[in-house]
Amino acid sequence: MTTRRRVIAGAAGAGVAGVGGAVGYRAWRDREPSVPPAQDKDGRLLWRNWSGIQNAYPAHRAAPDTEDALVDVLKNAPGPVRPVGSGHSFTALVPTSGTLLTLDRMSGLTAHDATAHRATVRAGTRLGDLGPALADIGQEMANLPDINKQSLGGALGTGTHGTGRALRAIHGDVVALRIATPKGDVLACDRANNADVFHAARVNLGAFGVVSEVTLQNIPLTRVLKRTTVRQLDEVMEEWPDLIARHRNVEFYAIPFTGLAAVITVDETDRPVLPRGPDTDVDAVMELKKLRDLTGFLPDVRRSLAQSAFKDAPAEEAVDEGWKLLSNERPVRFNEMEYHLPLEAQMGALREVIAAIEKHRADVFFPIEARVIDEDDAWLSPFFGRVSGSIAVHAYYKDDYQFLFDLVEPILRRHGGRPHWGKLHSLKSADFAALYPRFKDALAVREMLDPDGRMLNEHLRSVFAHG
Ligand SMILES: Cc1cc2nc3c(=O)[nH]c(=O)nc-3n(C[C@H](O)[C@H](O)[C@H](O)COP(=O)(O)OP(=O)(O)OC[C@H]3O[C@@H](n4cnc5c(N)ncnc54)[C@H](O)[C@@H]3O)c2cc1C
Repeated sequence: MTTRRRVIAGAAGAGVAGVGGAVGYRAWRDREPSVPPAQDKDGRLLWRNWSGIQNAYPAHRAAPDTEDALVDVLKNAPGPVRPVGSGHSFTALVPTSGTLLTLDRMSGLTAHDATAHRATVRAGTRLGDLGPALADIGQEMANLPDINKQSLGGALGTGTHGTGRALRAIHGDVVALRIATPKGDVLACDRANNADVFHAARVNLGAFGVVSEVTLQNIPLTRVLKRTTVRQLDEVMEEWPDLIARHRNVEFYAIPFTGLAAVITVDETDRPVLPRGPDTDVDAVMELKKLRDLTGFLPDVRRSLAQSAFKDAPAEEAVDEGWKLLSNERPVRFNEMEYHLPLEAQMGALREVIAAIEKHRADVFFPIEARVIDEDDAWLSPFFGRVSGSIAVHAYYKDDYQFLFDLVEPILRRHGGRPHWGKLHSLKSADFAALYPRFKDALAVREMLDPDGRMLNEHLRSVFAHG
């Protein structure tokens, strides 16, 4: 880290800042995005998502603590009724002028099966709280996303996933769920009972009702080695199929304008525990920002400085139970688009995305994430029926993110991608009907559970074509 800082600081000393910095100052002035008023004219309080681009002034807020109270809200509170988890989605799934409903008071474990490694969990539980609770009963989730701030209900809402060729997204490990509907029913669903609802509502966008409880197929606590290395991007992309085959979890972050990639692997081990050290990702991201600020319009300089700054970065290792290592802290805010592509299309699409960004968007500095996810059979799962390679492109929260739609999305769509439901995309109902073989079946289940569209805000009306 010290080396990186020295090299990047050296850029200023070498006079690069005089050129790049002056231009950069005009283009990349660090300006806080404007924040909407804390209250609207009727005194309603502001709700915002994590990145700050979605906001709303709900007329009513509800935090039921039982299924009966939940049903009462769903039937009687002013619509649209929108469930919220921890507000980490980028798309407009949550905003409502009606009722904002949280399950924060419906959290924790309710039962477990020690032999089958299953646990039943209330849907308001945050993934970060679930880790230690499951560890107490000798279990952990088979996989976890990049952060663990999400609620379980919110994670299922959007098909939240981690990485690993043989590992499914979280909903792929759901064996049963209970869902309260706006008609006033509470349905217990699994592959044998209310099977259509089970298939349609494992990934549900909070549009089918509210999931109150979930039974997860977990694994026994497993010690893993997590290893992070910085390598040449071309080599990593070339080796990707091999890396996928060799590691339980693997992902890489392609760092635009540098020719470098950070590769993260996780594998089972019997090595002694080596707790994770202090998080260095934030420093690395902010150093990439500094490099962009100083040399953004000088791509050759930017690349060679990055190569020397990061080339000696030592491999970072940690050994511990998986739930302690798989997720990270992400305090630097950003906006994001992620698409899930047929695995065989992933690297070709990524090459195009990087080339387009490096040609047109010198302001981009956030690493681009590539992951792999096993297929499943939930009707609205982006991984339905196909092993997927994902590509996630980020924009610093102070920077313009329109390029995600203009430059990146057309490439990801051309390669057959399906968007992450919680991350930025411009698709509408007809697009989803073409991408999801069971989309019409899911629509029919949704109409059956919520015939009056009480759960639909404007965004969801465009997804589900509800008039
Ligand atoms: C820093 C950061 C890192 C991320 N990393 C990853 C990652 O590694 N992998 C990944 O796949 N995604 C990732 N995401 C996206 C995130 O996992 C999803 O957007 C997830 O849905 C957020 O969960 P939440 O609890 O904040 O839900 P919210 O965003 O609050 O809600 C998401 C959806 O779930 C619905 N919902 C919430 N609770 C319920 C319920 N009980 N019943 C029915 N519907 C409900 C809401 O109505 C909404 O439609 C990341 C996001 C951020 C900001």
